[in-house]
Amino acid sequence: MNIPLIDPFARAINYLRVSVTDRCDFRCVYCMSENMSFLPKAELLTLEELDRMCSVFVGMGVEKLRITGGEPLVRKGIMTFFESMTRHLESGALKELTLTTNGSQLRKYAAALAACGVRRINVSLDTLDDAKFTQVTRWGRLAQVLDGITAAKEAGLRVKINVVALKGFNESELFSITDWCAREGHDLTFIEVMPMGDLGNEDRLDQYWSLKDLRARLRERFTVTELTERTGGPARYVRLEETGQKIGFITPLTHNFCESCNRVRLTCTGELYMCLGQEDMADLRAPLRASGDNAVLEQAIRAAILRKPKGHDFDYSRQKVDGQMTRHMSHTGG
Ligand code: SAM
Ligand code: SF4
Repeated sequence: MNIPLIDPFARAINYLRVSVTDRCDFRCVYCMSENMSFLPKAELLTLEELDRMCSVFVGMGVEKLRITGGEPLVRKGIMTFFESMTRHLESGALKELTLTTNGSQLRKYAAALAACGVRRINVSLDTLDDAKFTQVTRWGRLAQVLDGITAAKEAGLRVKINVVALKGFNESELFSITDWCAREGHDLTFIEVMPMGDLGNEDRLDQYWSLKDLRARLRERFTVTELTERTGGPARYVRLEETGQKIGFITPLTHNFCESCNRVRLTCTGELYMCLGQEDMADLRAPLRASGDNAVLEQAIRAAILRKPKGHDFDYSRQKVDGQMTRHMSHTGG
């Protein structure tokens, strides 16, 4: 039996988020620039390498695997990977296999994902307005995403809608999105925009809509009960008494959630980021490719976990973006 992964601050690491591609069929304004250059294929972990990497993590106590990107469902052959992860669900070692997607490919893959043992998915959707959707995603089509969400529902997948709160953009849709989720039976989480991506991009501060403000707006129409439930991540939850809806808030900038952090992130090139808000990472591709013996990789993973920092340095508080990251969210996978 393997010794579980425990970091220097006594946090058990049992949640791995894996970015399987840096590519995407959208170009969301807060995530990518319009003219992105993507990694050459040889840089990426192959599907077999992703399988081996994830299996080693599962062997070391990872119980939850979230597949993300870029857009995970545009990676060629990705269903082979999901199918191969099913064996860890069946053995009981893995408790949850899930993904975060922009929804564009769900009509094609929802049933297959459900067959692989995926039960819940997160779909990112910032607006229900056709023109605004194209504005924020640049390349996306709302109808296709809504149809994908319908397909997910038909396949029996539980859907959580992730909305990035954007000042002056979807402020006016707060109630219509909330009502839509209530009608459709989707969970809903609001995310505060983070200072990722291009350094010096002033837009990111202009786009900032604090969730504190958003929550206050919700209280204008609903009776809001704070829930104590925690998932080890940055989300806090409330219940809207009138509808019974549970709403999540991810506020990485205004609240410190680091003390309970149970997760690490693997990029599509095999870099392990121990914290979303720090530059430090460990290259796991080299040990993976250096030897067919998993012990070498396990050793590299343990050494990396021992470098997991206490917390991140994001700070918007002085009207200036401190602790700003130079890498895009599509690199670390959000
Ligand atoms: N393509 C998939 C999607 O959009 O759901 C998965 C990858 S995407 C990078 C993961 C999440 O990160 C999405 O919910 C997206 O809205 C969020 N995201 C991207 N850039 C962000 C930023 N600067 N601040 C906050 N959230 C961001
Ligand atoms: Fe693509 Fe997701 Fe980034 Fe939008 S947020 S550009 S859908 S990776």
